[in-house]
Amino acid sequence: MRDVNLRNRNRLLSERVIKGLESRHMHGYYAENADEALKIALDLIPEGSSVGYGGSMTIDALGLKEALENGNRRLIRRELAKTPEEQRAVYKEIYGADVFLSSSNAMTEDGMLVNIDGSGNRVSCICFGPSKVVMVVGMQKIQKDLDSAMKYARNTVAPANNIHLGLPNPCTKTGTCMNCLSPDSICSQFLVTRVSRFPDRIHVILVNEELGY
Ligand code: SF4
Repeated sequence: MRDVNLRNRNRLLSERVIKGLESRHMHGYYAENADEALKIALDLIPEGSSVGYGGSMTIDALGLKEALENGNRRLIRRELAKTPEEQRAVYKEIYGADVFLSSSNAMTEDGMLVNIDGSGNRVSCICFGPSKVVMVVGMQKIQKDLDSAMKYARNTVAPANNIHLGLPNPCTKTGTCMNCLSPDSICSQFLVTRVSRFPDRIHVILVNEELGY
């Protein structure tokens, strides 16, 4: 019963989030589960397009990359880069892609996106670059306001990502952000997307499932 109530609560809340996104010149969609989200994402990515992505447990969980590779889109596989030079070249290629895939580390109930990044390639592609940005966001990432969203991104998402990546940063020992200045920190750049300057560019699919962190 608790699960049913929570799902109903998320469904109701998604309407407020989608209105918030639209007011900020972005588009919002609601999916009841990962399968529905995958279908919406594929509909948003035209046949023939080049597609880049940022590191995202949510995108991985959806199986979106595999689905794109089986279709008629060109996926830019950033993990194939072996050297720093190749990595830089692939990041530049992604910057010029037709579509960029990502999650958002957190969101506010009124539609702002909060993202934290280490090298900055992911947040830069959210800001500008690819013609279209498709984001998939589990409803657990929706927070009341900007302060709560930033705290969630810093104290929950970033430590979990550090642990996932096996990085030697203080949060991997404490489970919360210690505001480190480590050279290995994945918290170099903080991006708040308050408004999209380019209408129809950013599309956010809300999923009523706990996906990613
Ligand atoms: S700032 Fe440092 S301690 Fe905080 S989450 Fe990022 S890497 Fe971990």
